[in-house]
Amino acid sequence: MIAGIELGGTKTVVATGTAQGDIIEEHRFPTTTPEETLGTVIEWLSERGIPNSIGIAAFGPVGIVPGRENHGKILATPKAGWAGFSLTRVLSEAFPACGLVIDTDVNAAVLAEAKIGAAAGLDDVAYITVGTGIGGGILSGGHLIHGALHPEFGHLKVPRAPGDDFRGVCPFHTDCLEGLASGPSIGDRWGKPAHELPADHAAWEMQAWYLAHGILSLLAIVSPSRVIVGGGVSQVEGLHGKINARLTEIAAGYFPPVQVEDYTVPPALGQEAGIRGALLLTAS
Ligand SMILES: [Zn+2]
Repeated sequence: MIAGIELGGTKTVVATGTAQGDIIEEHRFPTTTPEETLGTVIEWLSERGIPNSIGIAAFGPVGIVPGRENHGKILATPKAGWAGFSLTRVLSEAFPACGLVIDTDVNAAVLAEAKIGAAAGLDDVAYITVGTGIGGGILSGGHLIHGALHPEFGHLKVPRAPGDDFRGVCPFHTDCLEGLASGPSIGDRWGKPAHELPADHAAWEMQAWYLAHGILSLLAIVSPSRVIVGGGVSQVEGLHGKINARLTEIAAGYFPPVQVEDYTVPPALGQEAGIRGALLLTAS
């Protein structure tokens, strides 16, 4: 039995399926304490069999590099009770013979979109999710990028949009992508939550400015063939077109990948990218 777990800040998904990313059966429930959440996962899986392999797509920061002391652990998170909790220890106690592969939720999402979604067949893909925070995953040369921790490109420094003097919501940085373009920053800046702002509101041109500048940095460093922008704050009509237009302008003809039509696209797998990516992790 192949299983996947997507552990999110607010919801958790557990599924049985295939190493090709197909879901057989899934269960979604709210993320609570680590003991209760993993308890529900283990009970649900045990009722269906004994998994041979589990792919885990977890919120970060999380230790994802095999061999390191922090592998399998949730690291310094403000989420109560989770810091230092070892996902792999609890799962290997429940299923001792089971292979475990862990990565970030956003790396799982980019893997799924690159294998069976909006970037199917491409080896160099970046995925950005814009919601309560901004996170991202990178597939480079067919490999998920880990690095010393894992990519955190929500905290890229970005140049201010003309006339924007909003202070930013990131407690660490005044001018980072997450501080200036996450859902909470839009709500604070415009006095209304993002989902109440119409598609022709000035907020979306500004949003495109910040996301395009973040993507320009990705182009300069990892050179993706396509960039997928998803998450709850990316779903407004026309946003991807605005990002492409701004990106084409600021790329100034220098970056050939951008000349592909629809360089920045929405995800094809929607809410299923993370859990399908978790299943695909078992093939790695
Ligand atoms: Zn920041």
